[in-house]
Amino acid sequence: MTGVPRVGKVFLVGAGPGDPGLMTVRAVELIAAADVVLYDKLIPESALSGAQENAELIDVGKIGGGEQVPQDVTTALLIERAHAGRQVVRLKGGDPFVFGRGGEEAQACVAAGVPFEVVPGVTSGIAAPAYAGIPVTQRGISSAVAFLTGHEDPEKPETLTDWPALAAFPGTLCFYMGIRTLDRIAEELLRAGRPADEPVAVVMRGTHGDQRSVRGTLADIAGLAREAEIRAPAITVVGGVAALHDELGWLEAARPLSGLSVAVTRARAQASGTAATMRGLGATVVEAPAIRIEPLAAELPDLAGYDLVVFTSVNAVRLLFARVRDVRALAGATVAAIGPGTVAELRRHGIVADVVPERSISEAVLEELTARGPWRRVLIPRAEEAREVLPEGLRAQGAQVDVLSLYRTVAEELSPDQRAAALGAHYLCFTSASSVRFFHEAAGTLEGPRVVSIGPVTSDAIRALGVLPHVEATDHDPDGLVAALVADAAGRQWHHPRVRT
Ligand code: SAH
Repeated sequence: MTGVPRVGKVFLVGAGPGDPGLMTVRAVELIAAADVVLYDKLIPESALSGAQENAELIDVGKIGGGEQVPQDVTTALLIERAHAGRQVVRLKGGDPFVFGRGGEEAQACVAAGVPFEVVPGVTSGIAAPAYAGIPVTQRGISSAVAFLTGHEDPEKPETLTDWPALAAFPGTLCFYMGIRTLDRIAEELLRAGRPADEPVAVVMRGTHGDQRSVRGTLADIAGLAREAEIRAPAITVVGGVAALHDELGWLEAARPLSGLSVAVTRARAQASGTAATMRGLGATVVEAPAIRIEPLAAELPDLAGYDLVVFTSVNAVRLLFARVRDVRALAGATVAAIGPGTVAELRRHGIVADVVPERSISEAVLEELTARGPWRRVLIPRAEEAREVLPEGLRAQGAQVDVLSLYRTVAEELSPDQRAAALGAHYLCFTSASSVRFFHEAAGTLEGPRVVSIGPVTSDAIRALGVLPHVEATDHDPDGLVAALVADAAGRQWHHPRVRT
């Protein structure tokens, strides 16, 4: 604007270990203002979401999913873009100066006369242990910490490590890049005199939603990590503090489903609430919608003529109100809603249900509605293929019952990947008999995961296919299903991730 050429600048920025909440305010500001971002693969998934729309985003972590961009190419790009007058953010996982080659890139800036700034980040060597409940120093246990590289790169000379000196270090040893060499690290430390029962913890994908950790000793950690299929990125903590994980592992305690994968077979639109709840509890959710809702062209009767309207599902509420022009038509009717989702959906349409049966199963609903009767004219908006317990039961009491079929559930095909992921999950959840049948049709089997059913009707459908459900919810609604799954997971020791990535 002023005619003065814009001077480019390089910002060497740490993006933190993975949890987007652990990015610094400065990092977020600089990403939002950057013309160019060169980023590595170990940055938080949402790290770039705040970048300008026209910013140039360059993945230097890998080329087309393959090899790492060579360091000199990355450095050349940095310098070249800065010389062109751009604000360049060089975004790295963790801290840029801790095993991040940030120092070399800063030197290149100096050599090229490009101004630069460094924005430290939360390094994984501290953050991953912290998220596993391990303080890297602790009064009375360890008053020093050493950050080391495990030399995953086989090209590097192994003689660099002076094992006796390392073993003599009076404090916590924190290894980066030490998973493939974990056997060797443990072996060398033992040989150099560290005790076999010294506590060790390995934290994989620390601070990410799917963080997992393994706790053992120098003698058995390599085997345990192999068994648990621990892979990079992971931090290995050696020292007495590692045992504090057993007491302070807050994340695993708050996320009872962490490390577990759960396949959800509901229709896409309905699955999101349950999926979000399970993600919040630490699960990796596999969406395998085997059913889809297909609206039917039903003619809406005059609602004013009914003294009871029973909504049996969220879909029934949505599809009915999509056609109702004036909700006052329901003013004279008692409104019953089955299940908390249905209640919430009605509220979204400005209606507070009068009757909410405690249990969502048809027999219980009938019992409760009977107790509040007698009813004269009843409308039941619902799916075409639902059970007849409720309409027949009410008719038997003399009510005139109109069933309004608003939709049907139809099979949805699963891609081979979805099928493999669902059958490879720890848990496979069913919330209706139709989802059981359609999933079985699409996947060919229910074998593999622990099968979770929302209630007896769904369980019958599972048994009809020759499979015994492992878990049945006590409360027959989505929250009840999640609760039953959490209770089951708590009672089991999972050693292996079933989903292979
Ligand atoms: N500059 C980074 C380290 C880069 S070296 C930092 O300060 O964290 C890459 C190594 O960092 C990985 O091999 C792994 O040992 C470690 N690492 C990075 N992110 C990690 C995470 N979320 N959990 C555990 N280890 C991680």
